[in-house]
Amino acid sequence: MNDSGIIVDIQRFSIHDGPGIRTTVFLKGCPLNCKWCHNPEAIAYKPQLSFNQEKCLNCFACLSVCPTSTHYIKDNKHEINFSLCQLSGDCVPACPNEALSITGKINSVEQVIELILKDKDFYINSGGGVTISGGEPMTQFQFTKQILKACKDNSIHTTLDTCGHAPSEKYLEILPLVDLFLYDYKESDYDKHKEYTGVYNDLIQKNFNMLYGASAKIILRCPIVPGINDTDRHFEAICDLYKEYPKLVGIEIMPYHNIGLDKARKIGAEEKFISIDTTDKEKSRKWISTLHELGCTNIRLG
Ligand code: SF4
Ligand code: SF4
Repeated sequence: MNDSGIIVDIQRFSIHDGPGIRTTVFLKGCPLNCKWCHNPEAIAYKPQLSFNQEKCLNCFACLSVCPTSTHYIKDNKHEINFSLCQLSGDCVPACPNEALSITGKINSVEQVIELILKDKDFYINSGGGVTISGGEPMTQFQFTKQILKACKDNSIHTTLDTCGHAPSEKYLEILPLVDLFLYDYKESDYDKHKEYTGVYNDLIQKNFNMLYGASAKIILRCPIVPGINDTDRHFEAICDLYKEYPKLVGIEIMPYHNIGLDKARKIGAEEKFISIDTTDKEKSRKWISTLHELGCTNIRLG
């Protein structure tokens, strides 16, 4: 039993991760490495040092407390070598302008539930609840399971936001505790899926079929990234799924947003991700029209 887990963030009053007003819990750790990830700070399993360049005063207070040479001076400016950081955390309180922080904090199930329960009235009045997201929440399986169980014990609606890449038996184990799955459908082409997410999609498709067959309520979430998967072939594949799986609760198109790049920069991982403009509204609307024309009607922008 894991009574605690590593959390990147908890967002109260969220309206984007399932029905109604929700509390969304973002866990750390993901088996995928999507090139367009908007939560890059949630991919690594362990906590990480985060550095906000814009807040740095070049006072160099961090250098004297750091037990490694993570912080150094170049051309009279503060520079950082993330690979040397051993996460002692000493530099964080030494920084006078909060330019440094640790991403990923250990929380107990009790702490999380205490926060969740504060907004129970909002969930009831809005038809909302709690969403466990990430990263991939299945990577902290026992922690996720315990939070979901505590939510069910308190009659709170539960949603699991998942990439689908976890052992099938774990999905079956957690199924009775999940009212709604937000299930990613990232790329229909087998090799492109591997190229852009780091894994093939066999297991993801297998788990989707299994959950659908077990009458799970599923919203399919399709991130669409200009120049990568905004292709006729992928849109047709989405429509094929729509027709083949009529009991899907819905399909959501998630237009690419480059919000993740700034977060990636702060943890020194910028070069691992694509750098393109955020999708404009006109393009997103065009995608929806294309899908409607192909026969997909229960589809909306997420
Ligand atoms: S202590 Fe903070 S403000 Fe000063 S150099 Fe280090 S990161 Fe920059
Ligand atoms: S599955 Fe989600 S959290 Fe994991 S890398 Fe892809 S977009 Fe990021």
